[in-house]
Amino acid sequence: MTLQSWWVVFACAAVVAVVTATLAWRRRSRTPAATALTVTMGGITIWSAADAAVYGLDAQPVRQAYAAVLMAGVGLVVAGAYALARTVADPSWRLARRTAVLLAVEPVLLVVAAALPATHPLVMDSAGAGAAAEVTLGPLFLVHTGYSYLLLGAAYLHLFRRFRVATGVFRSQISVLLGTGLLSTVGNVATVASQNDGHGVDVTPLFFLLTGLVHCWALFRLGLLRLVPVAREQVVDTVPDAVLVVDPDNRVLDLNPAAVAMLERMRPGVADGIVGRSLHTVAGAHAVALFGSVASEDGHRVAEVSPGVWLDVRDSAVSDPRGRALGRIVVVRDVSEQQARQHAVELLNRQLAEQVRLIDELRAELAEEAVRDPLTGLHNRRHLDRALAAALAAASGQSPVSVVMVDVDHFKSVNDRFGHAVGDRVLQSVARVLTGAARPGDTVARLGGEEFVVVLPGAGQWEAAARAEELRRRCAALVDEGPWGSCSVTVSAGVAEGPAAGADPASLLAAADRAVYAAKAAGRDRVVAAGDVAAPVG
Ligand code: GH3
Ligand code: MG
Ligand code: MG
Repeated sequence: MTLQSWWVVFACAAVVAVVTATLAWRRRSRTPAATALTVTMGGITIWSAADAAVYGLDAQPVRQAYAAVLMAGVGLVVAGAYALARTVADPSWRLARRTAVLLAVEPVLLVVAAALPATHPLVMDSAGAGAAAEVTLGPLFLVHTGYSYLLLGAAYLHLFRRFRVATGVFRSQISVLLGTGLLSTVGNVATVASQNDGHGVDVTPLFFLLTGLVHCWALFRLGLLRLVPVAREQVVDTVPDAVLVVDPDNRVLDLNPAAVAMLERMRPGVADGIVGRSLHTVAGAHAVALFGSVASEDGHRVAEVSPGVWLDVRDSAVSDPRGRALGRIVVVRDVSEQQARQHAVELLNRQLAEQVRLIDELRAELAEEAVRDPLTGLHNRRHLDRALAAALAAASGQSPVSVVMVDVDHFKSVNDRFGHAVGDRVLQSVARVLTGAARPGDTVARLGGEEFVVVLPGAGQWEAAARAEELRRRCAALVDEGPWGSCSVTVSAGVAEGPAAGADPASLLAAADRAVYAAKAAGRDRVVAAGDVAAPVG
């Protein structure tokens, strides 16, 4: 292979490097490592292109410009590789402006020195052309080489440290960068050594060609620049929970910004110099009782530290590989909002339960009202039918159930003489007499108008007649006096015993009604038993 034909190889290296640079540039928004890789590959492109030009064209002006262009390319490669290694080793690392300026000083000086005719030989001197070309590396070039290796060595040390703790795909990514770094170094050392006599080909760009290819592969297969590890510090600093690390003596070893903010809220002015101080000093006795107490079984507890401020505290013990206690990680979350919401829901539940109770009461009242007569407060016809049916069913023919039907005599004339209001009062007075004489188990109802019924379970006809007689007497004794004069009434009562006079409510009431009719016919103000009344024909 002639010296001239090497230009094809360098041109290929330049193409691969420019493609990789473009791919990396497109990913620059994801991670600063992409920009660093772009710079490295840009440098390799310039370096390879310069070699391709120098071998392909073999012209004096090209040879003269070569050293300056080469130095620019090499400078970019070194700066880019440094930044790339630092970024991948620590994703939170950022190229500070000062570092960038410092990194630029040496390459810029070298480029200037290589460009100026006076200092050019100090960098690199070439004589002859083509196969006879002789390159002499100047002292500045050698100083530059040493400086570059020191810089890269420092960066790769960081990368190597990260490699030892990295896992999974990130470990593979770092392996690739370490491997390609080694590859380029071997290539460069071999070249510098082989060029000692000033002859030979600078094959470093070929190693960079390989480096570019491997980086391309890593970009697509290992997600280099796509999967970016997130530093532990960034995670801890970003979580909204307050995270504190305390030693076994409750001294604060570490804390995140959320913890600083929380402590500042609890004790304004405490924010400076928390690390190293005791939790007692920075958070107060109350908080220590909460943070420092031994965790409950599930490792967390919720407490109100000040009015309306609720904290959820979790902690876990940290120990070294031999099991000795190093301290505890305390994670504190402000749950005031959730607690406030929970209390609001509980209050709402209590109010709801109270409303349900009220509604139940109202419903019961309504149900009661549905079976009551509003004027007298007695049960109405609907309830009477049910109560009488139940009493007859309970007696089931074994014991008597009697009914007393009471009808006010000439009530119409009461209304006519004294007015409807007085008539109403008379009805209420009669109702009071009936309920006053009732015994437990009896049912007193207003059948309608001025007619009432008393159900007497267990009472036979004669007992019922005696009680009806008592009712009649008491009603006759009622006197309502007012400006209108003195109003008194008499009642007629009919008594019927079931099941003898009627086995069901309707027929028993009909029998009592006939007895009332008989009492009216006999002159009113009296009691007639159904047994004394002839049963209807048919
Ligand atoms: P008898 O002795 O035959 O029973 O005669 P009476 O007038 O009592 O019977 P009647 O059936 O002719 O009249 C009943 C009257 O009761 C007619 C009605 O105006 C009156 N009445 C019905 N309900 C009420 C009420 O709620 N209040 C008042 N003040 N009067 C009522
Ligand atoms: Mg009547
Ligand atoms: Mg009447």
